[in-house]
Amino acid sequence: MPRGQQPGRPGARHLHQLSGALLLLAGCATAGVRPAIRSVIDPMTTLEEGVDVYTERLYYPVQADSAEEVRRVIRDTPKAGVEPQWQGKTRWRIKWKYTWGESGGVCRIKTATVDVLLHIVLPELATDAAYDVALRDDWLMYRARLEKHEQGHAEYALATAREIKAALLRHEAPSCSGMAESANAVADDLMQRLKATNEEYDARTDHGKKQGVKLP
Ligand SMILES: [Zn+2]
Repeated sequence: MPRGQQPGRPGARHLHQLSGALLLLAGCATAGVRPAIRSVIDPMTTLEEGVDVYTERLYYPVQADSAEEVRRVIRDTPKAGVEPQWQGKTRWRIKWKYTWGESGGVCRIKTATVDVLLHIVLPELATDAAYDVALRDDWLMYRARLEKHEQGHAEYALATAREIKAALLRHEAPSCSGMAESANAVADDLMQRLKATNEEYDARTDHGKKQGVKLP
């Protein structure tokens, strides 16, 4: 009875970018001390048996004491791989592993596990930077809505991870030769669908603007 184990093959790495409000301020890329980016790693969570989620949140500091400064800093600050025109970003990577074997003349997937890695990059108003209550209120609303938008992308990735596990466990083939290719194709299709879903989400929400994401 042929049995095989496919070492986890990472799906294509899909990057997501959140477009920011159009900022038309004059550039002033002065060299200086690079502000520290804060990394928070969530405890690993198990979405369901065989689907584990690893999340890292990266916060880039916004040291500003006026709305104008906030907009300028968000444009100019190095932000953990987020291009200057974006304010936040969610990246995901989904990796799957499975074993298979023949039974009853058919090759079936026996076990399937999926890992989801999420990196969510968001701005963080430096704690001693803004004492202006109105600005802080605007910031809180902006940040909460931006985070909600990014979480929407993360949720699609999590849903896809569950779908990949279920689809792999349903997958069978007339013979075990070529099982790895056909099983990976099943998962790859779902990854492609995830990409399209996220593009549609950004089109529908105008990258969060229609969910109220608006810089102070
Ligand atoms: Zn988006």
